[in-house]
Amino acid sequence: MSDLARKLFGDDVPPKSLALIVDLDDTLCTGFDLPIRAAVEVLGRIDRQKVAVHYVTARGEVSRAGTVRFLEEHRLPGWRNLHFCPNHISTRKHKIDKHALLAREHRVIASIGDTEEEEGEAARLAGVPFVLVDRDHAAPAWTFVAARIESAAGFVLA
Ligand SMILES: [Mg+2]
Repeated sequence: MSDLARKLFGDDVPPKSLALIVDLDDTLCTGFDLPIRAAVEVLGRIDRQKVAVHYVTARGEVSRAGTVRFLEEHRLPGWRNLHFCPNHISTRKHKIDKHALLAREHRVIASIGDTEEEEGEAARLAGVPFVLVDRDHAAPAWTFVAARIESAAGFVLA
């Protein structure tokens, strides 16, 4: 909550909205645009009114068009929430900054990614639960994240 919100609402503040932080490469896709099936299945069931999916990636702005096309092709949520790494900072710093920002603005259900030293560390510093993806076997991590989304009532009811 911002200081302004605290002044305006006192203790009776509106609840923070839910968010999920997702890494792209080797978490949601491989080889730039080959989907990881388990990831697409879980993200595709998310209730977009309830959970904002944010992609925090080492990719640069030059990858925007291709990334948006990938999200569209697989009907994935969150194309407005693509956080590309600026040229002038390290990918590690970028991920730390974005995790901190998103953790202030939202109740983050989890951050999921395949790199412990980057998004793992960024999530820990922001106090966000981190789920590590095994690159050779991504499904269990996504099943775990799905259970967290389920507990937060973040899926569209079938
Ligand atoms: Mg990755």
